Amino acid sequence: MMRMSTYEKILETKRKWGYVYALALIAITVFIAHFLLMYLETKKDEYLNIIFLLALLGCYIGYSLFKITSLKIPRKSLVRLLKCDKCGYSLEDSNIEDDYIFKTVGKCPKCNGEIYVAAIYIKTSEK
Ligand SMILES: [Zn+2]
Repeated sequence: MMRMSTYEKILETKRKWGYVYALALIAITVFIAHFLLMYLETKKDEYLNIIFLLALLGCYIGYSLFKITSLKIPRKSLVRLLKCDKCGYSLEDSNIEDDYIFKTVGKCPKCNGEIYVAAIYIKTSEK
């Protein structure tokens, strides 16, 4: 189940960063409100500059957050293609354990012929 845990780890990382970005965005909003109040009180242009920079940073973080939440993680899994040598019956599964091409793995449910591993490959699906 190695590939499963790798997938879970990516999901976990995505969730964690989404959380961090959301917190940063809230913090920036609070800072902007704070400096806006300071500006309204003192009328100093420095506060406007800070607000401008914070707004830029906020846009960047907001964009990153959007990118992270809309990110599609390609899910990769190792699968094997099983084939019957008599009737051509085939199926795909992921129960790979010490498998190799042409290894016989059982009987065909249709014709009772030999089922063998025809191919082993990585399948990618987006979720
Ligand atoms: Zn068969």
